[in-house]
Amino acid sequence: MSEEDVYQEAIETWGEDVQVQIAIEEVNELGAELSRHLRGRGNSAAICEEIADVEIMLEQLRHVFGDSPVDTAKDAKLGRLRDRMEADDE
Ligand SMILES: [Mg+2]
Repeated sequence: MSEEDVYQEAIETWGEDVQVQIAIEEVNELGAELSRHLRGRGNSAAICEEIADVEIMLEQLRHVFGDSPVDTAKDAKLGRLRDRMEADDE
């Protein structure tokens, strides 16, 4: 089973609302780990675990809300960031 198939099957098995709820929880778990890091109690293995969790849930959110609109928004935002970086270099 491909990675894409796993994401789609997870959504079909548990439903969009459950997967959206889990995405919220995983984002919050990453936020908590990053906060511990900034307070000097960081655990980089735990941060990496949470990054992986969030990436997996972000992929599922793409299945729920649409890959193409996400790509379009990402391209625009990356373009603006690139412009800012290039302006800072001048
Ligand atoms: Mg997690």
